Amino acid sequence: MPDTPVLPTRRSLREQERRALARVRESRTGSAAAMAVPRPDAAGPAPTARPSRVRSTVALSFAALLAAATSLSTVAPGGSLSSVQADAIGATGEPAPTPQELLTASVDVPAVSRDGYGATTPEQLAQARAEERAAVAAEKAAAAGYRTASTYTNNTDSAVQWPFPVGVPISSRFGPRSSPGGIGSTNHKGVDFTPGQGTPINAIAAGVVSHVQQSDAGGLGVYVVIDHVIDGQAVSSWYGHMLTGSPLVSEGQPVLVGQPIGSVGNTGTSTGAHLHLEIHEGSTPVDPYAWLLARN
Ligand SMILES: [Zn+2]
Repeated sequence: MPDTPVLPTRRSLREQERRALARVRESRTGSAAAMAVPRPDAAGPAPTARPSRVRSTVALSFAALLAAATSLSTVAPGGSLSSVQADAIGATGEPAPTPQELLTASVDVPAVSRDGYGATTPEQLAQARAEERAAVAAEKAAAAGYRTASTYTNNTDSAVQWPFPVGVPISSRFGPRSSPGGIGSTNHKGVDFTPGQGTPINAIAAGVVSHVQQSDAGGLGVYVVIDHVIDGQAVSSWYGHMLTGSPLVSEGQPVLVGQPIGSVGNTGTSTGAHLHLEIHEGSTPVDPYAWLLARN
């Protein structure tokens, strides 16, 4: 005969409920106590040994306050949120701190740059975040062996972006020039970026791929053209001299801004690995550097 499951009695159910409530109350009390402790300007030494459960609760609470700070930047000066925000974001140009680091900074270190720079407006916060992202991108590029340069700073929040996430060397600008190596054009219709062979090239804006030249037939060699509508105007971006076999897109494919579309190469009429980028407004080539600078 099979075992009969033992059904819970009303009494045992009530007992379970009582225990669950007690657990909830206990954890609430723990959070409240934790929030009361770590004031950066509190007198006396910071408590050193606290249970890890409490520490993580505090870390989470600070992360939540930080997230809320963006929309609460109108809190009156001296308000507790402003203080937390200024302390946490005050040091710019550094990698985003983890919640645990924020906790440590708040507990152990006196207020950072209270009378110096402090990100207190949404614009300043956005700027601080953009600088952090740029620093991370630069580190990645350096780690991958790509050449970087302070020719521009790419704003990753923009609908129009540079073809590389960090500034890279530019070897030739738009306009009249002497023919490079005797084979290059004397009226340069683009800008030449030289981060190194194999560097991923990103779409400068959302659009639709209108042409992919997979084989090297001279001229721009292996290249991709993307059609965009930007500020109501038909614009196309041309990416020349790509590495053979590197195009990642096909004709008719929609692409997003910043999406990798291929890699820097040396195909076509080229005297060294570079991206030749052209921007056409309608069918007229314009200076890509000035154009991107104005829109990114
Ligand atoms: Zn060129």
